[in-house]
Amino acid sequence: MATPSEPAADLGLFDAVVNLCKRRGFVFPSAEIYGGIRSTYDYGPLGALMLRNIREAWWRAMIQERDDVVPLDAAILTNPKVWEASGHLATFTDPLVDCRKCKERWRADQIEDTCPNRGSNDLTEARPFNLMFKTFVGPVEDESAVAYLRPETAQGMFVNYLNIETTMRRKPPFGIAQIGRAFRNEITPGNFVFRTREFEMMELEFFVPPADSPRWQQYWCEERLSWYQRYGIAPEKLRLRPHEPEELSHYSSGTTDIEFAFPWGWGELEGIANRTDFDLRAHQDHSGTSLEHFDQATGERYLPHVVEPAAGATRTMMAFLLAAYDEDEIAGERRAVLRLHPKIAPYQVAVLPLSKKDTLSPLARDVLHRLQPHLMCEYDETQSIGRRYRRQDEIGTPFGVTVDFDSLEDQQVTVRERDSTEQTRLAIEDLVGHLLARLGA
Ligand code: ATP
Repeated sequence: MATPSEPAADLGLFDAVVNLCKRRGFVFPSAEIYGGIRSTYDYGPLGALMLRNIREAWWRAMIQERDDVVPLDAAILTNPKVWEASGHLATFTDPLVDCRKCKERWRADQIEDTCPNRGSNDLTEARPFNLMFKTFVGPVEDESAVAYLRPETAQGMFVNYLNIETTMRRKPPFGIAQIGRAFRNEITPGNFVFRTREFEMMELEFFVPPADSPRWQQYWCEERLSWYQRYGIAPEKLRLRPHEPEELSHYSSGTTDIEFAFPWGWGELEGIANRTDFDLRAHQDHSGTSLEHFDQATGERYLPHVVEPAAGATRTMMAFLLAAYDEDEIAGERRAVLRLHPKIAPYQVAVLPLSKKDTLSPLARDVLHRLQPHLMCEYDETQSIGRRYRRQDEIGTPFGVTVDFDSLEDQQVTVRERDSTEQTRLAIEDLVGHLLARLGA
């Protein structure tokens, strides 16, 4: 039985979204023609567009609309000394158990002492399994050539702290933000793109005077929660959950997760951690380089504390899709519709000539070319107009622009809105301004 705070399981919704993702080109199993590679996915044309929009929305809120955050794009291959200092080599582990009956491996903290395959309790002792992917740099595969793919983007920001503070003339409070791929050799990936071994993160490290970190952590919890709502997730599908002391990562003095009501229950979208001065102190000690900030106003030297909102872009994409999926009935016909925020939807507009006849194509293409500099457009002239509307509804395109035979005479087109299906006739001349205004662009 679901408790009042537990969302009711809706595996029908999960299946519908996973199916839509494959069928319409959002997400494909990676290297599918070779049978795929376990729990690894490629983002198809619509997924690539949507991920780009998610990155863009995050970048806008975290960098463009602020004057206290600067961006960074650090390397994925990292000097092992970074992971030694950060504690990841020693402690970035999950507890691993084997089922002696079916030989499957599980994360001990996820299965409550019972193998999900067999229901058997015949499990090995839990042992720590390091989640970092190891590789070799250069042609010789020996210990001196070992490097790791980053399991989080954060360390790139800590090791560049001094470079950025100096070159950008910053002082706390200020932040460094980064979006990029991260890699974790997860023991049990699954639930589609919820947990994969390669995924994309969007992280901010916000450096503050030590005494101010609790206030900033509170601030970032509120900011980040409102970001998900701004882009269309209903407040009742989101919650903040403070970590229990025993769940805290090795670097954190306190973490609050933003959770989403996934079809199988609440799941983390983002963690907002108070990393204290753990990382800067570790890098200062290991590198021998002082990372202290000198406050000219007070004459004080201190290591800044860090508040870190760390979100997964690929997991967020899944949450946006689940939150947006709906089925309704239009003129007696069932339709699937993604009620995505227009800034998150893969396409903002579809240009749809009423018929494929040559007479309409030149004007329809002219309309398309007017829109393309401003908005991501799809052009579709095959099948009946009703079917084409449904196809666009299903991928979340907020507006359809129909060019018909009257358009040739009156230079007007019909704009159809996805959710209400309401239609508005207007002059082609006014189309760009009209759509930009309605999209809030
Ligand atoms: P979890 O408890 O789900 O393993 P975590 O607490 O280890 O996640 P963080 O280290 O806080 O995760 O990472 C920040 C964010 O990165 C998570 O909130 C999530 O959105 C995303 N993320 C983490 N691991 C994965 C993964 N394996 N696949 C997809 N996204 C992930």
